[in-house]
Amino acid sequence: MTASAGVGADAIPFSRPFRAKNDLRNLERVLESDHAHGDGAFTRSATGRLLTITDARNALLTTSCTHALEMSTRLLGIGPGDEVILPTFTFPSAANAIALTGARCVFVDIDPASGNIDPEQVDEAVGAHTKAVIVMHYGGMPVDLDAMTDISTRHGIPIIEDNAHGLGVSTAAGVLGTIGVLATQSFHDTKNVHCGEGGALIINDASLVERAEIMREKGTNRSQFLRGQVDKYSWVDLGSSYLMSEFNAAVLDAQLEDFVEIQASRFAIWDRYATELAEWAAERGIAPMNPAGGVHAAHVFFLLMPDWAAQEAFIGHLRHVGVTATFHYVPLDTSPAGREFGRTLRQLDRAEDFSRRLVRLPLWAGMTESQVGRVIAAALSYTE
Ligand SMILES: *Cc1c(COP(=O)(O)O)cnc(C)c1O
Repeated sequence: MTASAGVGADAIPFSRPFRAKNDLRNLERVLESDHAHGDGAFTRSATGRLLTITDARNALLTTSCTHALEMSTRLLGIGPGDEVILPTFTFPSAANAIALTGARCVFVDIDPASGNIDPEQVDEAVGAHTKAVIVMHYGGMPVDLDAMTDISTRHGIPIIEDNAHGLGVSTAAGVLGTIGVLATQSFHDTKNVHCGEGGALIINDASLVERAEIMREKGTNRSQFLRGQVDKYSWVDLGSSYLMSEFNAAVLDAQLEDFVEIQASRFAIWDRYATELAEWAAERGIAPMNPAGGVHAAHVFFLLMPDWAAQEAFIGHLRHVGVTATFHYVPLDTSPAGREFGRTLRQLDRAEDFSRRLVRLPLWAGMTESQVGRVIAAALSYTE
């Protein structure tokens, strides 16, 4: 391959949104109906599919995972003076959901192999002001569920699961999204299942369902009105407009219908990376993603490079040969807003190291065998 081969139009992107078999048909049905706002037929259908996939009892489709996280902290009554523990290696949405209530983020470090929250540091960080802990299952690899459940029970602190990566992952303790009191999903177009922008709130504590419905419907009891449970609806509590439009729900419904196919395609790619890069990685001190217990969502495939310089060198090498690979989260405790709205007990070295060594390879449902082959060949040609 010549030096410029990669920069051309056939460069392999990092990810591509999936096209579902029935997406256009569903969208047309919404356009031809008299109901394009939230909570129509596609919202009901997609919610039903989500409940089946997650084995949950209650779920509400939302405008985003970010909004579902905001609903979570508000539903738990978190506010000024309170603290919520979360991993420093995660997306900013969880931190926003805490800080927007006036509460403080307490960032803790991660397990150096998976990138998931370290339960020992959670236990240590719990104090008189701790009101909840938000966990994130990186790449759909479950956090240490036994340890986290034990901490939650011992201290009486609810767990919120940011399950943006882990849709449908089964564990001995239950499907991800049903472990915490509340859980959130993302249907952003970079996720395994998407509708452009969208999310869901999974409610595992039935006593929170009514308030969640009200909060999502501008603080009104419109949902009860539509079910014929009240004669009129009015403003009953604080809320906002967190409903997903039927256009998004129509696309989401088609995607969830294809969920088995999406996951099969992603796992085939993930497995090829794991198999065909194993020897090359071992020879270079590169650690491929290696989920303890084997479960994950095939959302990401990552390699941990031997040192910080190698991250940039490897990403640069891949770009040069036409493959878009990328790093991931910058630890929140080191970010400008993280310093303003959060605190730590100590320096969080493991997250910094993880963040500066991690490289994610392209992965999307529908990636062709030849594209996967090109990514593998590109990686193998990195010989530093
Ligand atoms: C994508 C993502 C979010 C945000 O999801 P949106 O639906 O875009 O709001 C939150 N947390 C994690 C871990 C994510 O990967």
